[in-house]
Amino acid sequence: MRYRAVLFDAGGTLLFLDHARIAERLSTVCGARLTRAMLDEAAPAAALALEQAAGTDGERAARYLEVLCLSAGLPAARWVAARRELHAMHRERHLWSGGDPRNAPALERLRGRGIRLGVVSNSDGRVEDALRAAGLADYFDVIVDSSVAGVEKPDPRIFAAALEPLGVAAADALYIGDVYEVDVVGAHAAGLAAALVGPNAGSVTNVLSAPTVADLIGALLEDTALSAAVGHPIRNPE
Ligand SMILES: [Mg+2]
Repeated sequence: MRYRAVLFDAGGTLLFLDHARIAERLSTVCGARLTRAMLDEAAPAAALALEQAAGTDGERAARYLEVLCLSAGLPAARWVAARRELHAMHRERHLWSGGDPRNAPALERLRGRGIRLGVVSNSDGRVEDALRAAGLADYFDVIVDSSVAGVEKPDPRIFAAALEPLGVAAADALYIGDVYEVDVVGAHAAGLAAALVGPNAGSVTNVLSAPTVADLIGALLEDTALSAAVGHPIRNPE
């Protein structure tokens, strides 16, 4: 693989909602009958709503949570109480701090090839804590949180802020994220190649994609057709 650095988005890419925690709390506090399986099943619809939502990353995240809960069967009349409880839970511990167990071995494989790794996240100053809670923080040479950097995706300056300490040129870096308008558009503006992950990523036809980070890294390292294609990303018409 030709990249010297791979940078990642956090929420929806490396970090996920803890559906068991949310189901338990909303069932207790809001009298909703939600289970982890119901939230798991609603996740693709929520991911699609996030992809289609306008606004800031925070507004997209709020839309994601609303569609997730309502699609899972939360009665609409309970949504305001549920939203209040989700805010309280987020203050206690970052809502997006669950991980895919396949991520750590995939990141380890990249590091084993000498590839520098980083995270570029639109977050609230707590992305490093969330990565640590998921057992992933130590894989990264640099972690850039928009609240700390003072600039957020898709602004190209936030990608430059991660590449600068690595000493890697944008042309030698790949960015992996889950929201086209934020992650792919931003990375391309900064001169990086970009790839999209997520349950609906395959429906975006002009960018390389895989359902998960582990799938994408596996394909890149195994020098499959995807790897060759990522080396020549199809750019958005500007
Ligand atoms: Mg994301």
